[in-house]
Amino acid sequence: MKAAVLFESNKPMPIVELDQSEPKTGEVRVRMAAAGVCASDYHVMTGHNPTPMPIVLGHEGAGVVEALGPGVTSVKVGDRCVLSFVANCGHCRSCRTGLSNLCDTNRETGTRQYDGTFRLHTDDGTEVHQFAKLGVFAESIVVPQQACYPMPDEVPMEVAALIGCSVTTGIGGVINQPGMRAGMTVAVIGAGGVGLNALQGARLMNASKVIAVDIFDHKLEFAYKFGATDVINSKEQDPVAAILEMTDGGVDFAFDTFGHKITTEQAWGATRKGGTTVVVGLAPDGMAAEIPMIDLVRNQKTLVGSYYGSASPHETFGKLLDFYLQGRIDVDGMVTRRHRLEEINEAYELLARGEDGRGVIVF
Ligand SMILES: [Zn+2]
Ligand SMILES: [Zn+2]
Repeated sequence: MKAAVLFESNKPMPIVELDQSEPKTGEVRVRMAAAGVCASDYHVMTGHNPTPMPIVLGHEGAGVVEALGPGVTSVKVGDRCVLSFVANCGHCRSCRTGLSNLCDTNRETGTRQYDGTFRLHTDDGTEVHQFAKLGVFAESIVVPQQACYPMPDEVPMEVAALIGCSVTTGIGGVINQPGMRAGMTVAVIGAGGVGLNALQGARLMNASKVIAVDIFDHKLEFAYKFGATDVINSKEQDPVAAILEMTDGGVDFAFDTFGHKITTEQAWGATRKGGTTVVVGLAPDGMAAEIPMIDLVRNQKTLVGSYYGSASPHETFGKLLDFYLQGRIDVDGMVTRRHRLEEINEAYELLARGEDGRGVIVF
């Protein structure tokens, strides 16, 4: 089985032949069909989000179940699946309270399978980690059955891959916010993969104004296709002042889909009295934003984080697949580049350069 393996940060990932164990109890083997080129993997490659190595990256994918370990009941061989990068355990405290996107057991076991062991080895016996228990930059993956969400035949594999991360994170982060109502005003800072989807989420919720903020004009132009009603280039004008003026005092919901001190502070500043700032993007490890406390108290603002759509990923997948099949969200239009697995390093160079839309590895 061939996979792209990261041995060291800031070095290209070679395509390596790996030994893959058979699925153990509760696990399945999935033949990969499509994998999204997402920035979260890039943050590992550059060392901003350190993980154990060597590791197979990739956490946004879709494939077909081709083998079952003992005791698998939720999927069968031949099922076409969206892959969840949080394969929740179902019985920890987070899972029991409905926050399976934050599963405690999943986080503790990290890049190993649930029993703490590995399914991948190099030919000299070195254990190889799987990012988010997936590692979809590989021809096939052995994963917990809960990572698989079977889907209808009409959903293309590359669409399903994107639903596995950026679509769920972006749209879910908007539509699963309590208090979101038709006619509200929304700002989205960052028009990358997650940002475009947050814009679509605001469109789905019938927001009256959907303001996209980015530093690239070409990304802002692209943002109109996904629901932006207004755009601001934050290199040319102060986005906070512009949003306060356009909305007469700020938006009801502001989303930081980039994840940085600067963008979170912008989102906060653009949020109106009684409004909510939602941080969706993952900032570099250790970074902190400064929130003026007087503003927090006197203006009764809310600051909230949103991980993987704020709710059970499987619940959000089901809704998004329906929306897609009804033509109410555009996922096909996000895929702007297709690569083979062997071109993975070039695919990330294009992401780093700030190209529009999403690259997908097609197997
Ligand atoms: Zn992702
Ligand atoms: Zn759990």
